[in-house]
Amino acid sequence: MNQAEYLSTLNEPQREAVLYGNGPLMIIAGAGSGKTRVLTFRIAHLIENGVDPFRILSLTFTNKAAGEMRSRIEKNIGTEARNIWMGTFHSVFAKILRIESRYLGYTSDFSIYDTDDSKSLLRSIIKEFNLDDKVYKANVVFNRISGAKNRLVSADDYINNPVIQADDDAAKMKEIGRIYKTYVTRCFQANAMDFDDLLFNTNVLFRDFPDVLYKYQHKFQHVLVDEFQDTNVSQYLITRKLSAVHRNICVVGDDAQSIYAFRGANIENILNFEKDFPDVKTVKLEQNYRSTSTIVKAANSVIARNKAQLKKETFTENEDGALIDVIKAGSDNEEGRLVATSIFEEKMQKSLRNENFAILYRTNAQSRSFEEALRKLGIKYRIIGGQSFYQRKEIKDLLAYLRFTVNQRDEEAFKRIINLPKRGIGDTTVAKIAVSAAENNKPIWEVVSNIGSYASGRTITAIDQFATLIKSFKILIEEGKDAYDVAAHIAKASGLLRELYEDKTVEGLSRYENVQELLNGIKEFVDSDENEDKTLSAFLQSVSLLTNADEPDENEDNDRVTMMTIHSAKGLEFRNVFVVGLEEDLFPSQIMLESRQDLEEERRLFYVAITRAEKKLTFSYAESRYQWGRIKMCEPSRFLLEVEPHFMNLTASSRDTIPPITSFVRNLAPRKPAESAVSTAAAMHVPSADFVPTDTFDLAEGDKVEHLKFGFGQVIKMDVNGSDRKATVKFDLVGEKTLLLSFAKLRVL
Ligand code: ATP
Ligand code: MG
Repeated sequence: MNQAEYLSTLNEPQREAVLYGNGPLMIIAGAGSGKTRVLTFRIAHLIENGVDPFRILSLTFTNKAAGEMRSRIEKNIGTEARNIWMGTFHSVFAKILRIESRYLGYTSDFSIYDTDDSKSLLRSIIKEFNLDDKVYKANVVFNRISGAKNRLVSADDYINNPVIQADDDAAKMKEIGRIYKTYVTRCFQANAMDFDDLLFNTNVLFRDFPDVLYKYQHKFQHVLVDEFQDTNVSQYLITRKLSAVHRNICVVGDDAQSIYAFRGANIENILNFEKDFPDVKTVKLEQNYRSTSTIVKAANSVIARNKAQLKKETFTENEDGALIDVIKAGSDNEEGRLVATSIFEEKMQKSLRNENFAILYRTNAQSRSFEEALRKLGIKYRIIGGQSFYQRKEIKDLLAYLRFTVNQRDEEAFKRIINLPKRGIGDTTVAKIAVSAAENNKPIWEVVSNIGSYASGRTITAIDQFATLIKSFKILIEEGKDAYDVAAHIAKASGLLRELYEDKTVEGLSRYENVQELLNGIKEFVDSDENEDKTLSAFLQSVSLLTNADEPDENEDNDRVTMMTIHSAKGLEFRNVFVVGLEEDLFPSQIMLESRQDLEEERRLFYVAITRAEKKLTFSYAESRYQWGRIKMCEPSRFLLEVEPHFMNLTASSRDTIPPITSFVRNLAPRKPAESAVSTAAAMHVPSADFVPTDTFDLAEGDKVEHLKFGFGQVIKMDVNGSDRKATVKFDLVGEKTLLLSFAKLRVL
């Protein structure tokens, strides 16, 4: 597309934003109004007008979003687009930190600790300090430290000026300060940074080394930020500093979609922006191109309830479209079935593809019932996030080997692999090694290489062998072998692959395949033209910053229903969207509901969910849900009441299960706080009046049954061993149970 062509696809304010010359520019507009599109076209326009792509810095929310943007720009202007500095805050600043690592005392091969690594290190420190790990939970301490770093509060600041938080008293704060300080030291000794450090240390770098800041300030002629509403203070300061010389900073966002306050994102950035750049040009985009008029109006009616928001209008010229369907289900499993059936029917009636559908939920744990139901109907799906590929144990194990080969100070990688496969090295020895390294201020590798003075007998031999193994891996890197050659060798020589290969269980097989899949990924990385640096270190850098939304597609076939949390759905769009689990305490989430601000954040999340849909939106909720092994009775979410009822299809539905809105109202008001009846399965099922256990001798797979306690279900497996007959039944309410038929109070239906 040439310039005139793509400019003609924009409306007037969009074009104005794309063509706007130098100086600060802010676009704050509602969902689906073309913000991301404007950003993309603006970058293409800049390059066409002579700006060197190397001098453009574009920050997005996920690496995937960055990739999509890059390929769209490439369509407009060609391969030059590859040279734009584009990525998430974390990936771009990790790159800068690697280049400038020596200023901060790191090597360019530093490891990036993921949340598990960070928490594991915190657990060791809490143990070394002899603190009670029930009072000092690694999770809580981690959140405190992360919060501090994102507000740019260093460990010393934290100790000297404690700001008491929530339920922490002064003594606890002091201890957390001490843990924070030790944690920072240990990360440094391990030549490792955690996620928050990538931003914190960039701020330190730019604060303490003006020459470095000067270099990047002059390098980046244009800085552009998508999803600006979700930047935190630390991120904002970096962008502000970087654009201080050229002052060409363009931010786009929507305050109504700010959903990361819990991670320190600060809606005030939008307000501060106007103070920091008083000459800012503000452009409003008011026309939504994504959704039907019904969806846009429903979304507006919800978000209007939030007090804390900037005034803006959104309208659309799109057709009214279908009303929003509401599905009421008896249980979470039934919710899965009804949603899957609805997808199936809609696909058939309208000849749609799987990829036209998305199921969005508040928490990852909700995916199970939808997965089962979709699988039964033979509908392909993909789950984004959740137990992500890179979080799987076998993947982390191999990655830890790779990490330790690249950086032998990486304490967390070391702890993971020293006894894997088993070498007879106990936890105590490992802890001793970590403590001696910390106390003597030595890298862990030095302790390992001189193990004679720290351990004895068989342990020495085992550790020596481990050290020799790692040295042999290092030689491959020194010989200049690429990431794939090194990794494939390590997978074999470490014994990891063999161990998985020998495990012939279904899980073992899938773990083996996963490791193969990782190796395939590394091969792809090495073969790709886009990666100039093919070293193992470069590969590790690229994977350590993948976010949930960047999961590899495990299968080439992309025609799949997408399932993900609403948080990961930001910026995306689908023809048909199901927003599921609309129940009190789940969405809005009970944990998040401590104040009005929190409710407003949950409501913004609901707004994000609604506005992902193009043509058709469906809400669903269940009246009971399995939680922590028990059945919990649920009430419909208050959010269902906040959507103006005439946008919803509450009566005329193919399902007779949908209650009229008045019954929602009766259910909800007045609502007692945290009232959630928990009942056992026995209390749940009221057996049919004519319940008489029947002779189950002819029972077969597929039969429908009723159980006195567990209710209705279907036999999924029979196991006959002499007179000992067992049936595995999948119950609607309580899931799978294996029953001994001589005792089971079962009735065949
Ligand atoms: P979100 O707030 O959800 O991130 P957004 O404001 O970034 O949304 P985009 O994703 O850029 O919106 O655009 C939404 C949809 O509308 C996209 O499919 C985009 O291609 C389309 N669109 C935007 N502007 C126009 C236009 N002028 N003409 C036609 N389609 C448009
Ligand atoms: Mg967008």
